Amino acid sequence: MPKLSDPAVSAGSAVWPASPYGGELVDLTTDQSEITDRALSATKRLILTATQTIHLRNIGTGCYSPLTGFMTQVDFQSVLAHGKLSNGLDWKVPVLFHVEEKNCTEFREGADVALCNAGGHVVATMTVESLFDVDPDAYCDTVMGTCDRRHPGVARIREQSRLCIGGPVKLCGSKITAERFENAPARIRAQLESSGAGEFAAFSTRNISHRGHEYQHRVALDRAGFLGIHVITGAAVAGNFMSDVVLDTYQMLTEEIYPPGKTLLNNMRLPPIYAGPKEAFLQATVLQNMGFTHFIVGRDHAGVGNYYSRYESQEIFAAGSTLDILIMALPEPQYCPHCNDIVTEGECQHPDDLKKLNGRDVRRFLAAEDYSALNEILRPEVRDMIIARHSAGSIFVES
Ligand SMILES: [Zn+2]
Repeated sequence: MPKLSDPAVSAGSAVWPASPYGGELVDLTTDQSEITDRALSATKRLILTATQTIHLRNIGTGCYSPLTGFMTQVDFQSVLAHGKLSNGLDWKVPVLFHVEEKNCTEFREGADVALCNAGGHVVATMTVESLFDVDPDAYCDTVMGTCDRRHPGVARIREQSRLCIGGPVKLCGSKITAERFENAPARIRAQLESSGAGEFAAFSTRNISHRGHEYQHRVALDRAGFLGIHVITGAAVAGNFMSDVVLDTYQMLTEEIYPPGKTLLNNMRLPPIYAGPKEAFLQATVLQNMGFTHFIVGRDHAGVGNYYSRYESQEIFAAGSTLDILIMALPEPQYCPHCNDIVTEGECQHPDDLKKLNGRDVRRFLAAEDYSALNEILRPEVRDMIIARHSAGSIFVES
């Protein structure tokens, strides 16, 4: 059962190997001939959207174990009503396959649909077990905790068709192209095993590395002995740093700064969900499936705007759950100008002067060419890299 972390937690009730959620790591990859055979009898071909592609890959490689397909109505309603799959395991974010309503007569229960990439090539199949309607208000209220249309997750759900199909999937293994630094859970498990460590902490982020992140990395390395840094990509937001730039900052840390053999860098693909605490729960699920024993959850983890309270993403784990991964609930690291150091509340006598660290300020200082202000937020190597990249061309996602 997950517990809020205290120094005793890492004394180790979660030890290697961390069991995949539900007991077994799902692998739904198969060869081209099976996919071709299945596609021949398919009643329908669909071109996958970017979000569907990410979910499909996460299901197929076991990131979402124990899911073996897109959710059926039974599982979807169970997640909304009870926060659990129909098998009783806690699950907070529905994994849905929306289809355009004009297509609904072409789906038959028990029949396969062929799922194609943007080039029109069949990469997977789904056996349709369920065709159902999603009430966007009920979805948003439960998953996002709000129906406010200004919430980006709410806006996205409202753009989607209400009709979904669900059922088990099969993927053609050779047609899955990994993104830069993207690793399937089985590969990460092998890396963890070969490291020789006994406990593994996971850190996840969408932002470039700042000194507050590094503070948390040091805590994790000290307590667990091994650190997996997971850069979450797949939900580009206009004005934010491009994924490659974010990955570059952590590549520098893992290859040039941190102790050799004690860290790994992974590109964790997740579509735009913006579900704050419930998204943190999904991340914890993926990380347990990758073999991590501890998960660092900080202030407003996976949050958006002011929709969630500062530590709500830690509190969702506090009551316990069916996950085994332990939560390292860390306080917010901030910059103290008196100490000229990164501290958390209670570590020095200047609580009123502490400055928050965030990517928004980095973007602001870069735009103003106020490079000295970056020193409080970024280590010199990261600062110089970001300034050089910024001078050479745009490093932000365009709208
Ligand atoms: Zn201080």
